[in-house]
Amino acid sequence: MITLETAVAAPVSDTYTYLLPQSLEVTYREKPGCLIGRRVFVPFGSRRITGYIFAARRECDIQIELKEIIEILDDIPLFHPSIIPVFRWIAHYYHYPIGAVVKTALPSGLTVNQRKNICLKDEKILQTVLDELQQTAEDHWMVRVLEKKMLSAKETKAIWDRPADRRTVLALVKKGAITVRDGKGTARVARKHEPCYRLAAPYGREVSATERDDECGLKELTKGEQKTVALIRSLAEGCPEATVSRRELLKHYPYAARLVHRLIGKNVIEAEYKRIYRTPDGELLPFLPKPDRLTDEQYQAIHHIHLGIEEEQFKVILLQGVTGSGKTEVYLEAAAKALNDGTGVIVLVPEIALATQIEAHFVSRFGDTVALLHSGLKPGERYDEWSRIYDGDARVVIGARSAIFAPVEKLGLIIVDEEHDSSFKQEDKLRYNSRDIAVIRAREEQSIAVLGSATPAVASYHNAKTKKFDLLEMKNRVSGKKLPKVTLIDLKKDKPPPGKVLHPDFAQAIKDTFNRQEQSILLINRRGFSASVICRDCGSLVECSHCKVTMNLHKGKKQLLCHYCGYRLPEKILCNSCGSGNMVPIGFGTERVEQEVKEMIPEAIVARVDSDSAADRQLFLETLQNIRRRAVDIVVGTQIIAKGLHFPDVTLVGVVWADGGLAFPDYRAAEKTYQLIAQVTGRAGRGERDGRVIIQTMQPHHYAIGYAANHSYEKLAERELDIRKRAGFPPFSRLVSIRVEGEQESDVRKKATEISSWARTWCLKRPAAALTEVLGPAPAPIEKIRDRYRWQILIKGKNIQELHELVGQLALSFRKNGSEKIIIDVDPESML
Ligand code: ADP
Ligand code: ZN
Ligand code: ZN
Repeated sequence: MITLETAVAAPVSDTYTYLLPQSLEVTYREKPGCLIGRRVFVPFGSRRITGYIFAARRECDIQIELKEIIEILDDIPLFHPSIIPVFRWIAHYYHYPIGAVVKTALPSGLTVNQRKNICLKDEKILQTVLDELQQTAEDHWMVRVLEKKMLSAKETKAIWDRPADRRTVLALVKKGAITVRDGKGTARVARKHEPCYRLAAPYGREVSATERDDECGLKELTKGEQKTVALIRSLAEGCPEATVSRRELLKHYPYAARLVHRLIGKNVIEAEYKRIYRTPDGELLPFLPKPDRLTDEQYQAIHHIHLGIEEEQFKVILLQGVTGSGKTEVYLEAAAKALNDGTGVIVLVPEIALATQIEAHFVSRFGDTVALLHSGLKPGERYDEWSRIYDGDARVVIGARSAIFAPVEKLGLIIVDEEHDSSFKQEDKLRYNSRDIAVIRAREEQSIAVLGSATPAVASYHNAKTKKFDLLEMKNRVSGKKLPKVTLIDLKKDKPPPGKVLHPDFAQAIKDTFNRQEQSILLINRRGFSASVICRDCGSLVECSHCKVTMNLHKGKKQLLCHYCGYRLPEKILCNSCGSGNMVPIGFGTERVEQEVKEMIPEAIVARVDSDSAADRQLFLETLQNIRRRAVDIVVGTQIIAKGLHFPDVTLVGVVWADGGLAFPDYRAAEKTYQLIAQVTGRAGRGERDGRVIIQTMQPHHYAIGYAANHSYEKLAERELDIRKRAGFPPFSRLVSIRVEGEQESDVRKKATEISSWARTWCLKRPAAALTEVLGPAPAPIEKIRDRYRWQILIKGKNIQELHELVGQLALSFRKNGSEKIIIDVDPESML
């Protein structure tokens, strides 16, 4: 008998053991292990649900009675056994059902086996069965099977989804009356392969072009053929393997479509199907050559990582390199080494839309073996990439957060770029941090994790200082370029003119930059026109009627918009409290800054980049292209423009209001403010010319802003660690936030109070009581979102085991009963 340890898609923390039906045993007797990683359909209570096979064992003596699985859903596994310990770790650490963990990890929309058709196999048998039934409606599905011989996929699904009918179907299959045909192998999305051409061997590069042409008789070719050859030669220059895609070639010379066949016939060129990487708007990714020389710092860093890879032991390396120090090249060399050793690589980037640059670097260096996993892929494409990785055709995976689950076998290296970035944390359902899972996965696979950033998370820095991680530093920009000089403008002393957001010095710097035909980036971390609208007569702010937040004015849309639930009101409204129509905007956002800049320099081309404009991914990428092409003079944007982008012609970076984040109820407010300023500062002066940075602030003496102005990351980190040590905040403890949400405020409060007293009592009963602290309950900083009230309890633990035991018990006792939703957020990133 073969038993299957299975994680089921139900809210349970343990796996369940099922039996492989006897009918399938022959197939898998020899290699039960090949069942691991496949999905199955299993009975669970009165339901049938999906399960994921974690282990398959041949056993002769089974004491307990086991249920049989109903069916195996996949022809090939979706994950390798090596990731199973990671799944288990996640389920335990984040207090999440194990089956749901696997479901989160796998690409969504796996359509394998979705199409089935019921087909007639033996008319006589089916007729007999029908005859035996007491009464059958004329349009009973069995009658239709007899008539039509095969039912459509849609009809089959309807039958299949009704449990009683499904049992009948399976019984009829057993009797030999019908068969159920799987429509697997349905049209997969067209592969990304394109025909490519290269010059044949005698036309290789060793001899000079004229010499070669003379000798090989290219002169004999027609004019058109000669032109085609010349084009292939020039377009292929610098490309790996010197090939040109058909699409590129025809773009330059449509007539070549006919000529290539003749040239292939004459053995002048060769054709080959190759995978071609394009940006989402269809452009070829640019080819980025390897730099001629590494900087000393790059060399040192690479050397250290290479030694780590050679040791074949788990190790985490924190690469702290200032903006523009050339971290990408270090990643590339590290990846090259891992690939050379026959292992695979995962590269995580905070936001894939911004990562076209890193993709281009990796594709330029490693070509075909790169797979991209990002949210822009259609389910079919995602599945294709997934199988390419599983099969080992792709050995380098680049992607956002969820790419950490990619089925790379023999994973030798995981790179996390901009490791401090909060978008590595998933903010719903399974609230995991992909950077942290990277470390766990590296540990399970005995491999290397490289965490790179100019501004590492203070917690990562602490890990490096306490020798949990190795620390590598790159303190200089490539080719000796300096970090930009930063000027602070004190908004308290030095107010902008009435009605303006920008101080005259700031405004002048933007004009000067424009006049020098260089580019500026202005950061303002709030989208919309104004933060809110206030009544001049009674002082009330316009609040969302579904959330406890003010509504932001969006002038472009002529609307007031709630950024939490999307509720809209027309721009012109009356005060809710006093009915006055005397409503004015207060505070400012990207739209307002954009307007001011446009008024100041009407001839400048201004682009606004925020999540409003980035919602259309295509448009967003186009804007980035335009900035790179210098078709934009001034960029106004939120933090989305601060991350990792390389625009060599940006010489001025301005932060319109630096302190916005400091007021956040978050113990990392200073750290996050520092990171944002340092990141956007790093966008200036990356090219030939030096950069300059201007920061407007109400709190010029706040250490986060002062250190950011001086590029003093270490001082910031040390100071933060000092504060947190005294307050007992992470990394000197761990936090778990428990949030209670529900429609009735009183019920939510009651439940939150109940949970916190329960947790306090639990702590008191433990010998190590002092190590765990329960804070709250209190209304969450945003008390209501989408008509749901929110309360929270924060649990702070010095001993992680204790903390998790408490949270585990809490989940068991409270998560299942009651109508309020209980959300457990381990290592919360957002405290709102
Ligand atoms: P970071 O990620 O550290 O901010 P990047 O990796 O984006 O920096 O590198 C900044 C720029 O320097 C890129 O254009 C890159 O191609 C270039 N660069 C990197 N290493 C070298 C080198 N050794 N020589 C010349 N240019 C380099
Ligand atoms: Zn009013
Ligand atoms: Zn709202």
